[in-house]
Amino acid sequence: MRQLIAGNWKMHGLGGEATVLVEAIRAGANALACELLICPPFTQLVPVAGMLAGSTVSVGGQDCHAAVKGAHTGDISAAMLADAGARFVILGHSERRANHGETDAHVHAKAIAAIAAGLTPIVCVGETEAERTAGWETGVVSGQLAGSVPAGFAGVVAYEPVWAIGTGKSATAADVAAMHLFIRGVLLRQLGPAGGDVRILYGGSVRPANAAELLAVPEVGGALVGGASLVAEDFLAIARAARPG
Ligand code: PEP
Repeated sequence: MRQLIAGNWKMHGLGGEATVLVEAIRAGANALACELLICPPFTQLVPVAGMLAGSTVSVGGQDCHAAVKGAHTGDISAAMLADAGARFVILGHSERRANHGETDAHVHAKAIAAIAAGLTPIVCVGETEAERTAGWETGVVSGQLAGSVPAGFAGVVAYEPVWAIGTGKSATAADVAAMHLFIRGVLLRQLGPAGGDVRILYGGSVRPANAAELLAVPEVGGALVGGASLVAEDFLAIARAARPG
C-alpha cells in the first residue's frame, strides 16, 4: 500500500495564503510515490477541494460531529465534509482531546459517523510525555485504540506522541518502530485480519530532515504533518521521502 502523507493545517490558512500553498503543492504532486492529503480549516475546504479537483491530492476535514444533523451550533457533520469535497477526516487529534475534552467514546462515535458518510477516518492516538516517562505508553495507546476504533474499522490510525507534536522533538525511529509494531498487534487482535490493512501514520515533528528515516520504519504507513505542511517545499520534500508502495 502506498504511504499517505497528510497535512494538518490546524487553524491556519486565510484565502490568499491557502491558494498560494495549494497551487504550489498541486504543481509538485505529480509523480510522487505516495498519496497526498491536505486537511485545511473548514472555511477553506470548498476552495481547496476546487483547486485540487482532477489532481491526485485529496482533501480532508480536521474534525466532525457524531450526529448526522441537528442543533449543534458551531459543529460540522461528516456529510457536510463529504459535501464540501473531503474524503478523509482527522479524529481525536490530541489538541481536540486536550482543548475540547474529547474522549475515546466521542472519537468512536465520530468514526462511525465518518464511515457512514463515506469518509475515511484518521483516528489519532498517543501518549503524553508524563505517560511515557512513567512507562505507560503502550497501555495508554491500546486503551485509546480499544475505545476509539469501532468494529469493522477500515480507516487510518495516526500514532502521535503528544510530546512530539509541534515541539521539534520527534520520536526516534526505534521508538516509532516499537510502537507501530505494537499498534499493529492491537489492531489485529481488535479487528481480526482487517487490522492488517489499517494504515498507521506517524505524526510529531516530521520534517524534511527526518522524514526519510521515519518513513522507512516498518509498519509506518505514512505521516501526519502539522507545521511542515504549511510550507509547500517542506511538505513536498517529506512526500518525496516516502517509501515507494
Ligand atoms: C499534528 O498536528 O498532528 C502534528 C504532528 O504537528 P507537527 O508536525 O507540527 O508536530
